[in-house]
Amino acid sequence: TALLEVEGLTKSYGGVHAVRDVSFALETGKILALIGPNGAGKSTCFNMLNGQIRPDRGVIRIAGRNTTGLSPRAIWRLGVGRTFQITATFNSMTVRENMQVALLSHHRELFVPRGFAGRFHVGRADALLDLVGMGHQAERACGELAYGDLKRLELAVALANEPKLLLMDEPTAGMAPKERADLMNLTARIARERGLGVLFTEHDMDVVFAHADRIMVLNRGELIAQGVPQQVRNDA
Ligand code: ADP
Ligand code: ADP
Repeated sequence: TALLEVEGLTKSYGGVHAVRDVSFALETGKILALIGPNGAGKSTCFNMLNGQIRPDRGVIRIAGRNTTGLSPRAIWRLGVGRTFQITATFNSMTVRENMQVALLSHHRELFVPRGFAGRFHVGRADALLDLVGMGHQAERACGELAYGDLKRLELAVALANEPKLLLMDEPTAGMAPKERADLMNLTARIARERGLGVLFTEHDMDVVFAHADRIMVLNRGELIAQGVPQQVRNDA
């Protein structure tokens, strides 16, 4: 079975069909881009997958398990990592401390006062930082990082619960072209090495065509095309 299986996913707001009867699957190790114009239903779709929005109808299965209607926290615990459009790191803490906090929150210690993280999970924190090429910046304050480095840290934070599925909300927004390619190449390498499935929303078509294994095109809540990049490009 596929890592992620979605059948008939549907959500309306009043009379507006934000997402209508969307079905797709995502295999382990693959990268799937969710694209479409503003208002197409990308965020609604994304937020149903991570548990922030409850679908009206449809089924979501992650690694064979029905996650439809579960809370974000429950879905996260089942091995779904996510990155945010607006970066959510603690600026006054170091890169390593941010990583430690992420690892602690996986172990239910959700409130971590500044300085408290000192002793915990240093080895695992540094291993994840090395994975994303941030090991040499472990002692720097997050607030001083270049934006591209902050995004790489966020990727490492999203991997703290050793997810099988990674959801990325506009991962390259606000980045320079070179940084975009670097982040997506890094994501692809990690997906391959760790057998992770990645689903991301994206505006930049260069990024999508260069880095997605499959593309889904939403319009007015409906899936109007899906396939490998070459297919979608020809259909468009
Ligand atoms: P996208 O992320 O592709 O821009 P959205 O999922 O944000 O699209 O929105 C899809 C449609 O649902 C739009 O018509 C939007 O106005 C509507 N919508 C989204 N969220 C809400 C909400 N909380 N209340 C009412 N309408 C909403
Ligand atoms: P709830 O109120 O449902 O218990 P939480 O406040 O525990 O949710 O979590 C809020 C959100 O942050 C959820 O979407 C959860 O999946 C996410 N989350 C919690 N810890 C982390 C973390 N270390 N890394 C990424 N996301 C996290």
